[in-house]
Amino acid sequence: MTLPASRVGLIGHPIGHSRSPAMQQAAFDALNIPARYELWDTPADQLAQRVASLRAPGILGANVTIPYKTAILPLLDDLAPDDAHHTGAVNTIVCEQLPTGIRLIGHNTDVPGLRRALHDCGAALRGRRMLILGAGGAARAALAVARLEEAAVSIAARNITAAQAVLATSNGGTPRLDAVAPHALALDDTPQLADALGHTAVLINATPIGTGDLDALPLPASLLAHLPPDALVFDMVYNPPVTALVRAAHALGLRAAGGLAMLLYQGATAFTLWTGQPAPFTAMRAALGLHT
Ligand code: NAP
Repeated sequence: MTLPASRVGLIGHPIGHSRSPAMQQAAFDALNIPARYELWDTPADQLAQRVASLRAPGILGANVTIPYKTAILPLLDDLAPDDAHHTGAVNTIVCEQLPTGIRLIGHNTDVPGLRRALHDCGAALRGRRMLILGAGGAARAALAVARLEEAAVSIAARNITAAQAVLATSNGGTPRLDAVAPHALALDDTPQLADALGHTAVLINATPIGTGDLDALPLPASLLAHLPPDALVFDMVYNPPVTALVRAAHALGLRAAGGLAMLLYQGATAFTLWTGQPAPFTAMRAALGLHT
């Protein structure tokens, strides 16, 4: 008798650009785990229904992406005592099968994923400043990484109230260093942004700007010239693998990387949470076109 395949999926909207299905399916196949990774494109008015549908036999869990990493919290039963608690954002759900029923537990694997990707780039954050563009779920993960690395933080967003809210709920930054520049900036406040960039060791794009667009930039390319020469520009956007932001940083002689390595590392942690197995990195890297 053939066992029915387990299912995992990606909850978000829009999600057509995602590389997670190819990467996670390659991981299941490499370990002969009978599971399918599906795209569960979910409009906002169907989010509760989608989450409820996870309470069914054979569902291992889900990933959560734009724009639901914070909105999904009240629909879950609990947050794991890991990074989801600190960040207030969830990118991975594990369906725990208990005798009493199925419990949905939220995790945040973006935090270890980003941290490891930044380490690969040689980012030195301790006692320095991270400037995060955007104030959504991914920005919360970046803020958590800054705290773990004992870095100061600024957040620049088109909605400054959202940036302030992220900083307030996540307790980010070190007071002494945060005196250097304001915590929360408006993304279109060019003078303040230029000033903040001058004190930035790592600039993170945590907006979706650049996704599926070879030319779109989250800030004017000329502003990157304010960064110190040893700064790192890290774009969480991974499709295209080399974004306009990464190209603009390279053109100025700065170190820069796109989000594929972060995608790999966050996905590897999620895979282990769902299956209890070490992630097959070789297969996952190959699916993403990453070289070892
Ligand atoms: P999110 O929760 O929806 O937040 C997106 C943020 O970007 C919000 O602050 C939003 O502002 C801002 N934003 C969106 N469009 C903008 C625009 N045109 N101009 C200025 N700001 C804009 O999404 P998320 O989950 O944080 O994800 C953000 C991006 O990071 C996505 O592209 C996602 O794919 C990527 N990501 C990559 C990885 C990886 O592994 N590489 C992991 C996590 C996330 P408003 O609130 O004003 O709309």
